[in-house]
Amino acid sequence: MTDQNDDLLGDHMQAWSMTVDRFITHAARWNGQHELVSRQADGSIARSTWEATARRARQLSSVLAEAGIRPGDRIATMAMNSARHVEAWYGIMGYGAVCHTLNPRLFEEQLVYIINHAADRWLVADPQFAPLIEKLRPRCPTLERVVYLCGPAGLPAAAGAADYESLIEGRPVDVPWGTVGEHAPAALCYTSGTTGHPKGVLYSHRSQVLHALICAQRDTMGMSVTDSVLAVVPMFHANAWALPFTAAATGAKFVLPGARLDGASLYELLETEGVTLSAAVPTVWQGLLDYLTTNGLRLKTLRRVIIGGSAVTEGLIRGFRDGHGVEVLHAWGMTEMSPIGTISGAPPPAVGAMDDDTRLAFNLKQGRTPFGIDMKITDDDGVRLAQDGVAQGHVRVQGPAIIARYFREAEQVLDAEGYFDTGDIATIDPHGYMQITDRAKDVIKSGGEWISSVEIENVAASHPKALMAAVIGVPHPRWRERPHLIVQLRPGQQATPAEFLDWLDGKIAKWWMPDGVLFVDEMPLGATGKLDKKVLRARYAEAATVRD
Ligand code: ADP
Repeated sequence: MTDQNDDLLGDHMQAWSMTVDRFITHAARWNGQHELVSRQADGSIARSTWEATARRARQLSSVLAEAGIRPGDRIATMAMNSARHVEAWYGIMGYGAVCHTLNPRLFEEQLVYIINHAADRWLVADPQFAPLIEKLRPRCPTLERVVYLCGPAGLPAAAGAADYESLIEGRPVDVPWGTVGEHAPAALCYTSGTTGHPKGVLYSHRSQVLHALICAQRDTMGMSVTDSVLAVVPMFHANAWALPFTAAATGAKFVLPGARLDGASLYELLETEGVTLSAAVPTVWQGLLDYLTTNGLRLKTLRRVIIGGSAVTEGLIRGFRDGHGVEVLHAWGMTEMSPIGTISGAPPPAVGAMDDDTRLAFNLKQGRTPFGIDMKITDDDGVRLAQDGVAQGHVRVQGPAIIARYFREAEQVLDAEGYFDTGDIATIDPHGYMQITDRAKDVIKSGGEWISSVEIENVAASHPKALMAAVIGVPHPRWRERPHLIVQLRPGQQATPAEFLDWLDGKIAKWWMPDGVLFVDEMPLGATGKLDKKVLRARYAEAATVRD
């Protein structure tokens, strides 16, 4: 008798390796004339297409090949969002080199450390960063060449620098792409390193492709060819939340704001380019909403905004929803997760059936995990906790686009079940919504119990006079630590500590009431625009006014 299982060995389907160049090759072939719109340094607008972007990216790959760059070599970029930067991404990654995105807002010391640690061979940069790059260069011996994203006329007077346009002009477009295979590295991004040195996350082609597909799902970002997408989140910040990949995959119109992220400039782009979907951190959106309110303006085409990187406030959701009919998708993630982990957008039916205010409370949570990510919360010993919306624990995650180990570090960073500890503390409710209550390193432990600094901050920040609020733990002889509230008021406002304590009263647990309230002129922000609590603690803990 013949064996009925005789033809089961091996994969019968095509070996279609998942490399990121597939995205733009698809875009060029099927949506080639759809536009990329870039705001240039002088404020003017440049227009390109997916077809032209793919062609020019291939020309850059030819330049790299001819210059002796090998697959796997690191090519850094230091640039704001523009079509040229998109070309650089695909030109570098398509060829098989590793695109290392540098955040120009990092301290010089950190940039030097990162460039040397990555051993970057070339740096592709916006001309505006020339003064910074000239300072870094003598301390970065692996850097052989700096290419500025401009034509000959815009080239900064830096020794030995090349202009991008002259370099790619007339170069061949038939350089092979995707030859390195899907497990080869595609991109490198360093975490901001609030403790110790920055650490490198080396994304593979496979992880980038799968992450983009995870993001493209309807309940994640749900991008469509009908969308006009404004990518405000910088391409040097955790893959710009995959937008340069998802926009190419869907063939959406792609709008890139350059260095102008103020309310007026963003409003102009949103309206003139018919933007329907956009993504940025909360501070950028707050700037836009303030501008709209001050000038009595209404958004006409925008339908959805993705907000992440820090917690979204109720004011932001209401401002977009009630003022402009724009839906907020609240996203959470981190560099180590490529970065998307959860998103709070369209509610599942059980939540959708609830009244408006209750639904809004779910929108304020960081959201649910899309297919492709698994998540659990555990106690300090790694034991799983209940998903009852009450138990707080360490958020641990698993998936094909989540880190297993840092660049040039031997040890895996996974627990016994293969999950990565995000360093965030959260609850997960019975509907699957995760809500961040703290960073593990910022957690306030008072009398043996955890106090959620984030929850107090959210209530304090919703005070009409508040621009930003932070809660830090201050050592206490009896309770070990007590919360203190630090507030930056809106411009021109005055307030007393009592006003804020009254505002909190009844909205948070009694024993969570801050022992002190302090007003500051400006909050210390890190390179990715996040509040730096380490600096806050050092600077203000002792100055905190103690409540009588
Ligand atoms: P990214 O640069 O993509 O924001 P980082 O790795 O710099 O990623 O920082 C990730 C951290 O930012 C998370 O671990 C979390 O503490 C915080 N974070 C990100 N999104 C949110 C959010 N929606 N709400 C609260 N915290 C967030």
